[in-house]
Amino acid sequence: MKEHTRVVVIGGGIVGAAVLYHLTKLGWSDVVLVERKQLTAGSTWHAAGAFHAMNSDPNVSRLQAYGISVYKEVEEISGQDVGMHLTGGINIAATPERWEVIRYEHARHRVIGIDSHLLSPEEIKKLCPIIDTSDVIGGLFDGNEGNIDPYGSTHALAKAARMAGAEVYLKTMVEDLVHKSDGSWTVVTDKGNIQCEHIVNCAGLWAREVGRMAGVHVPIIPMEHHYILTGDIDEVKDFDGELPMMIDLDGEMYLRQEQNGVLLGVYEKNSTPWSVESTPWDYGESDLLEPRMDDIEDALMQGFERFPSLADAGIRRIVNGPFTFAPDGNPLIGPVRGVQNYWSCCGVMAGFSQGSGVALALSQWMIDGEPEGDVFAMDVNRFGAYATRKYTIVKGMEFYENRFKLLCPNDEWPAARPNKVSAVHDRLQQANAVFGPSFGLETPLWFAPQGSEATETPSFRRSNAHGPVGEECRAVRDGVGIIDVSSIAKYEISGPDAVSYMDYVFASRLPELGRIRMGPMLLPSGHLKGDLTVMRLAADKFMVTGSGYLQEFHMLWFEQQLAGMNVRIDNRTEELSAIAIAGPGSRELLSKAASGDVDNDSMPFMSAHSMDVGFAPCLIARLSFTGELGYEMYVPAAYAGMLYDYLLEVGDSLGIRPFGIRALVSLGMEKSFGIWSREYTPEYTPAMCGFDRWVDYGKADFIGRDAALVDRDAELEHKLVTLEIDSTDADAWGYEPIWCKDEYAGFVTSGAYGHTVEKSLALGYVKTQYLESSNGEFSVHVVDERRPAVITSGASYDPSGSQMRS
Ligand SMILES: Cc1cc2nc3c(=O)[nH]c(=O)nc-3n(C[C@H](O)[C@H](O)[C@H](O)COP(=O)(O)OP(=O)(O)OC[C@H]3O[C@@H](n4cnc5c(N)ncnc54)[C@H](O)[C@@H]3O)c2cc1C
Repeated sequence: MKEHTRVVVIGGGIVGAAVLYHLTKLGWSDVVLVERKQLTAGSTWHAAGAFHAMNSDPNVSRLQAYGISVYKEVEEISGQDVGMHLTGGINIAATPERWEVIRYEHARHRVIGIDSHLLSPEEIKKLCPIIDTSDVIGGLFDGNEGNIDPYGSTHALAKAARMAGAEVYLKTMVEDLVHKSDGSWTVVTDKGNIQCEHIVNCAGLWAREVGRMAGVHVPIIPMEHHYILTGDIDEVKDFDGELPMMIDLDGEMYLRQEQNGVLLGVYEKNSTPWSVESTPWDYGESDLLEPRMDDIEDALMQGFERFPSLADAGIRRIVNGPFTFAPDGNPLIGPVRGVQNYWSCCGVMAGFSQGSGVALALSQWMIDGEPEGDVFAMDVNRFGAYATRKYTIVKGMEFYENRFKLLCPNDEWPAARPNKVSAVHDRLQQANAVFGPSFGLETPLWFAPQGSEATETPSFRRSNAHGPVGEECRAVRDGVGIIDVSSIAKYEISGPDAVSYMDYVFASRLPELGRIRMGPMLLPSGHLKGDLTVMRLAADKFMVTGSGYLQEFHMLWFEQQLAGMNVRIDNRTEELSAIAIAGPGSRELLSKAASGDVDNDSMPFMSAHSMDVGFAPCLIARLSFTGELGYEMYVPAAYAGMLYDYLLEVGDSLGIRPFGIRALVSLGMEKSFGIWSREYTPEYTPAMCGFDRWVDYGKADFIGRDAALVDRDAELEHKLVTLEIDSTDADAWGYEPIWCKDEYAGFVTSGAYGHTVEKSLALGYVKTQYLESSNGEFSVHVVDERRPAVITSGASYDPSGSQMRS
């Protein structure tokens, strides 16, 4: 066993083997994998081995599609048979709602790069003769699906890595992890110590225990899962070919061929978390759990109805095994904040679909400093302290039980709520707010009419929120609205080196004292890393604000850039509430409520001032995402309730009205304002999305400067545009294809109805070749049909920005 190495990968399941292989593939060969028993000794050995590329997150889909291509690659390199059955897979729809969603998905696959096609019930029956299609409306076929041998694929990955220089130590237990002062690690095993630069937690079922060795809380929960293997089925034996992988989304089940019978897996409604405190070290290798027939009986019966010949074939074997879920079912990958050189690669719920994709992203992160593209949906830093043990269990169960649930974009899942509430939550509740969580915090989405139930009907089309949101938008545009935006992230950055630090971290010019500037952050590659707002509170003190759900993501980045500078970074998000007012009446309101002058000379657009509002000591920023005259007030949370009441009281004569995030998004869309995770992600550069107007290319140095200069002068392939869509009942949500005549021209990043301009609006990236001469010939696929669209030359509302500067 080596005593020194660059990376120790802990765990030899499908994920650990894939990480080992990808580290070598990307050029790091001085790497080892330590496995306490044999390869596959955790969840991996008893998996059904099914894989598919389709996922509700297109970025995850892309990585899954990549991962599938790796199996053949490692089979060729290693000579180890991976047992690949590329049968194709069919998702079936047995309700009109599901059929609509499946057709929508199909349209969006064009954007993601999945080559799927729709099938009629007759075509499904031909490909899978054992299915009862009497109630099936249709299906979606993807040829890039099938199943793999868990043993063969894990061994092929590990062997290919070994052939490139990696080493694998079996029957070697990692017992402890010691972090050294230089950031490197001592990995303590039962066979001796290994000194290394980096460790990767790929310990699957034991990832929580390996996390604890380094003081890291890993928010995952193992869940029990069953599949059955049947005896021979005549139709299968006689079938000319192999059955595709079948997913009955409404039945929450999957099926694939296994010899002359089938394997049927079910996601039952009464799920069972396993070993909630910790995973026993003596579990694994060939252990299985006792089947819980009572719990899965209903789900199995549904399976037998969908595939009637299973009932006669008899159950040859029942497998019940545990595998891990993060609260939202996505993997937890990346560097863990506060623990240098400790990498997470666990919570991989679908290891055979996702193993190589997450391994590629993680290896790029370790070797190149950043993964390619946007992997936030899998970033371990998407969770914060709110993802406690109990939260993880409750959300894990919710995800398991709704594994294939028809998910509408306006769905807010109910488990573990309310978790965190803002200081004005009770006031918002009294006003009949409909809430949605952001980083665990209940935020007001919209306000249902008094006397009606505060819930939103899940839908891909305009929901019951449409009317009330319209009223909220009009109240802001015509008078004054008030919104609790406490979810905004607030960072205070100060200290003797604060100016040079900020100047390097942000690509924009720093604001003068008392002023505010948009603050894009770039990666060394010149792609976007953040879309923050920077306020200068003192010569060496800044307040930086941004999307609240990115707190850990931002803080990790801020801390990584410190390089010994004398700078203090405080995340004040939970300590400070934020209440905003917006609309032409907002100045009059503030002039009555605040302790100082708020006229345009005293408080111009994009300025920040400390002032009392009622009894509350506030930092007031004059800006608003609504595109109206507006103010954001940051205040210690203890004052927020009083501040909110006071603003309502003073604003009463001005007709003040609460509004929520849905209205904010609609108002911002009318101004063509983009948001992070949609228009702005690491996929895009400043020139592509229009951030170049805030980049100070003349600055001596900032992260990504060299690449940004190249980007500025390069020919653009895509450009962010605003579209007006001719649609009367539905709006785009994101990832819908944009067509120019019949050519694929780009895709939507987000959409909303603009209640002031009375138009369905969207933002999206369009290939520049189509922008010059093609207007009048665009269409966008919204829900179930292509709808005509035009690209506008600027924002639909107040393109000159006179309102917000007024
Ligand atoms: C019944 C069932 C069916 C499934 N079907 C599918 C399917 O069809 N398709 C699909 O994609 N996924 C499926 N899964 C999920 C799949 O099994 C997991 O996603 C995958 O196995 C996770 O792999 P892993 O490498 O992260 O973890 P694991 O397989 O749990 O591997 C972790 C490894 O780390 C080792 N280890 C832990 N701690 C230490 C330590 N301290 N020192 C040394 N070694 C350590 C363990 O011994 C183990 O070998 C199924 C799961 C179950 C239970």
